[in-house]
Amino acid sequence: MSVHVPVMTDEVVAALQPERGGLFVDCTVGLGGHARALLERGATRLVGIDRDPAALALAGEALAAWGSRVELVHGDYRDAPRFLDARGIEAIDGAVADLGVSSLQLDGAGRGFSFQRDEALDMRMDTSRGPTAADLIGGADERELADVIYRYGEERRSRAVARAIVAARRDAPIRTTTQLASVVRRVVGRSGRIDPATRTFQAIRIWVNDELEGLDGFLRTICARLRVGARFAVVTFHSLEDRPVKHSFRALAAEGEMFRLLTKKSLVPGDEELRSNPRARSARLRAIARVG
Ligand code: SAH
Repeated sequence: MSVHVPVMTDEVVAALQPERGGLFVDCTVGLGGHARALLERGATRLVGIDRDPAALALAGEALAAWGSRVELVHGDYRDAPRFLDARGIEAIDGAVADLGVSSLQLDGAGRGFSFQRDEALDMRMDTSRGPTAADLIGGADERELADVIYRYGEERRSRAVARAIVAARRDAPIRTTTQLASVVRRVVGRSGRIDPATRTFQAIRIWVNDELEGLDGFLRTICARLRVGARFAVVTFHSLEDRPVKHSFRALAAEGEMFRLLTKKSLVPGDEELRSNPRARSARLRAIARVG
């Protein structure tokens, strides 16, 4: 398995200024890379949220040295207000959200996110609940499949892919990554170096994890908790995520004197990071500060 190298860590730290100390929330603690950097640079206390129980276990190991200064929460970041309330936390000194999938999910065995491995088509970030990709693909009608693949995968051949999935599952249920990839490859031609199944896999993953629903509400609830001077940084990996972040932050900054954009344009990783970490390729960072 490839190791998970956190993306744009220097930029996240520069945006959040953990040397001010205080309580920071890592909404996607993952394997604990960003959280660790924040603690090393001065964060006094950290609440780390993730919906993936396997990631949380690894984050627990990575952050063990900070003992009770770190608290890990299993759940969806869209429920962050509830998690903070339960701990009596009204205001925070900074937050980070690194959206998307971790290398643990993408490359780890048995998760079913990748067509590079032949395994059960699961794709759930939270393995403790909800239908798997195989369940959803088995139950959806052709129209819904086409919509999902078009909207979340930006796949131009979405209708043809949906039709092929429905035809294939009449013969046998689609239960593995390899089965799904080969159905897609039969109808989508290869263009360039990208595997034709890439867009459909992205779409199904976003669908299974309901990744784009409620992003604006989530961003606003975190911003509402920021103390004056506190900052919130968000890293995204594709335009379907970046667009809502851009719009929400711009709207918040335009609404009054409370928030200021720290990134008029999104930041992208530097050349060195791009060379050494392929996961950084499509990353963008946007940050906002509470100023009033
Ligand atoms: N910044 C982390 C890596 C994060 S990878 C590090 O430095 O190690 C993205 C993580 O976000 C994954 O572990 C995924 O499970 C989590 N995630 C994605 N959507 C989520 C959601 N809605 N709620 C909570 N966690 C989520």
